[in-house]
Amino acid sequence: MQHQTQTHPDPRSPLVLETRDLPRRPGAMRMVERTVPAPDGLGLEMIGVPARSDLTLSLRLESVSEGVLVSGTVTGELRGECGRCLGPIVDTLDVEIQELYAYANSTTDETTDEDEVGRMQGDLIDLEPALRDAVVLILPNNPLCREDCPGLCPECGAHWDELPDDHSHRQVDLRWAALEDMHTTHKTEE
Ligand SMILES: [Zn+2]
Ligand SMILES: [Zn+2]
Repeated sequence: MQHQTQTHPDPRSPLVLETRDLPRRPGAMRMVERTVPAPDGLGLEMIGVPARSDLTLSLRLESVSEGVLVSGTVTGELRGECGRCLGPIVDTLDVEIQELYAYANSTTDETTDEDEVGRMQGDLIDLEPALRDAVVLILPNNPLCREDCPGLCPECGAHWDELPDDHSHRQVDLRWAALEDMHTTHKTEE
């Protein structure tokens, strides 16, 4: 997946990190601990972070010779739909971030592609593209409400959890088979 073309990030955006007070000296560090509203569409179709729900950033910004290394975790809530029974899924998001944002005109800036290594935009870091990629990577394509969800009966659509062990539609099938037999017999007689 490609990062969106990086233009000037909005410094007021909750996922844009300001680094003005981080000295551009390798080894200098600053912690960022904040809770921000989740952006729209963070996740996949079947499971994701509800828009504007709380996302907690727990990040370390570290000056390195080529830029700023951002590492840490982002936590929040996940809501989804089970791929087998369509029941609701409530889970916790806990995703690790480790991303280098290169200074403009650094060797890294000149020798790598923007899709591989992020870029500082002046003093600003837009965390959103890296966060989106990281979240999508850890989410299941076919989420389940629980590992052994038995799903739904293909005949009547009821959840197997709510059906007796001997639930079956065989009787109905037999009756249809009998009707078909009669029909065939009748035809043969004509
Ligand atoms: Zn399920
Ligand atoms: Zn059934």
